[in-house]
Formats: sequence, C-alpha cells, structure tokens
Amino acid sequence: MNVIYPLAVPKGRRLCCEVCEAPAERMCTACTVTYYCGPVHQKADWASIHEKICQLLIPLRTTMPFYNSEEERQHGLQQLQKRQKHLIEFCYTVAQKYLFEGRHEDAVPAALHSLRFRMNMHGLSSVELVPAYLLLAEASLGLGRIVQAEEYLSQARWTVLKSTDCSNATHSLLHRNLGLLYMAKENHEEARYHLANDIYFASCAFGTEDIRTSGGYFHLANVFHGLKKMELADTLYTKARSQQADLLGKQLVNDTGLDEAQEAEAIQTLTSILSIRESTSDKAPQKTVFVLKTLSMLYFLMLECSKAKEYASRALSLAEEHLSVQEQKVIQELLDIISTEEEQPIT
Ligand SMILES: [Zn+2]
Ligand SMILES: [Zn+2]
Repeated sequence: MNVIYPLAVPKGRRLCCEVCEAPAERMCTACTVTYYCGPVHQKADWASIHEKICQLLIPLRTTMPFYNSEEERQHGLQQLQKRQKHLIEFCYTVAQKYLFEGRHEDAVPAALHSLRFRMNMHGLSSVELVPAYLLLAEASLGLGRIVQAEEYLSQARWTVLKSTDCSNATHSLLHRNLGLLYMAKENHEEARYHLANDIYFASCAFGTEDIRTSGGYFHLANVFHGLKKMELADTLYTKARSQQADLLGKQLVNDTGLDEAQEAEAIQTLTSILSIRESTSDKAPQKTVFVLKTLSMLYFLMLECSKAKEYASRALSLAEEHLSVQEQKVIQELLDIISTEEEQPIT
C-alpha cells in the first residue's frame, strides 16, 4: 500500500480513485493497476471486493500485448470480454450477498464495480446497467441515504423506459426497489403499487412458485404488517414461505440449488418470518414448526449442521407440545439425518 508520487504517473493519464473517482494519491501494490484517493477508500474497497479481484484486474488494465496475427488479436479480445463478463457477475453476486446480510457499507464498492464493468462493456445507456443501479439503490436505502437511493432508482427507471428489450426479471427488480424506497418514505400506497408490480413481473419471469417471486410477497406482507392488516400480512407471509419450502422440497439433494446470495436471502426471509410469527399473539404452532423445519433443512443443505440441529430441535420440542405424533416423527427423522451427517461428514 505505497503512496505514489506525481512523477510515477505516466504523462497524460489521469488516475482516479477506484471508489469515488477523485484524483488518486496511492495505488494497490499487489496489482499496481488500482488507485485510491487515500487509505479510507483503499481499505473499504479491499474489504468489500478488491481482495477477491485484485489479481484478476491486472490483465484488464494493462495494455494489450502485441499480437502476431488478426486471429490472435481476436482471440485476445474474446478472452478479455470473457473476463469482464465474469467480473460483472462476480461483483454483482458479492454485493448482493452483502445486502442480504445487511452489510450495506460493504456492498457499495462491489456494486460500483459491477456498474463500471457493465458501462465498459455495454455503454452508458444499456439496460444491462439497471441491475447494478438497483443494487446501489438498495445499499443506499440500507444506509439511510434516501436521496442517493432515489437518484440511482431514477437512473434505473430512465434506462428501462428508453429500452425496448428490458426483461421481466429486471422490471421486477426495479419495482421491488421502488417499493422498498416508498416503504422507507412511509408512502404505503405507492409501495403497494410497486410491490404488486414486482410480483407480477417476477411471476412472468420465473413462475409464481419461485423464490425470486416470494421476495415480493414478503415485502408486500411487510407493508400490510406495517398497516396493521395482520390477516392479509399473514396470508402473504404464508405464500412467501410455502414457495421457499416448496423450492427446498424440490431440491433436496446435496445442494440447495441456490447461489450464495439466494441462500442468504432465503435464510433472511425465513428468520424474519420466524421472529414475526413468534411475536404475534396468534398462536399457530404448526406454522412456526413449519418455518423452523424449513430453516433446519436449509442449513442442513448448506452443510451447517449445528444450526440445522438447533432449528430441528426447536421444531421438535414445539411439535411435542402441540402437534401429532406423526408430525413429531417426521421432525425426529430429520434430526436423525442431521446427527448422522454430523458424525460422519460426507467429504
Ligand atoms: Zn476515493
Ligand atoms: Zn490490487
């Protein structure tokens, strides 16, 4: 982490901070192709994403080698594009995972990278930029920066408006984020409108039973929860939950079939539902048992046996109090599977 002096900067090249684009004062000595305005942004970028992509940036940011033939040059170009594509996806997934974990500050540099790589590859007005704008909006909302969130969202909205080939998935994400923005502004009417649109577009894109559709139901449930319309909220929570459970049922192999960010989202959603269930006066133990069981299965599939065991045990003791012997037996079986796995992990 050396300071670089003006003389070391090649003539005519303006070096900008990776995070804020202010004039750079230092560079990363590990890759020597990344610059920062100061130690604060260097540290933030390192913790968020740079540590993971530092070496990958070298071929992207050094001048292209000399090629002997047009064929070689084309091949080189293709390789470069492949790397960029990989980085776009990678930074996006990392940022998304931070968001689901509530680490909004850490999400910002990763999301910014995803945006910039997209700009490089697709130009400034491409609809491909929208997912990155939405990540940044969500991170800003999480940090309480409502004005900034609105700016990113209006960028996203504008880009979607101008494009003719925007996918249903992107429409869904845009509406979800607008819904969340209006929730933060306590405009429930607008929030409801956008979340309903989110569910509509997500259903078109992924089907009604997909985990990506369940997110919209979940947030809409929160709106109704906020409005003290408990019955409606409960129906929607049930909808969101059964979609996630369904998904787990289908994927009960070695793997959840979800990427890391989706796993984090599923855990986050189920944990919120559980705490809401536990805090309501409406005692419906079979619903709580169901959520506990689902969480346990999810952790089990993610190979986190101790957590899986904890939730299964809670489900079992609740089931012993309130549910039938048959139900208890099912949970006991789950607990047995987890215990076996714990003793003899499959490697
Ligand atoms: Zn900076
Ligand atoms: Zn570096």
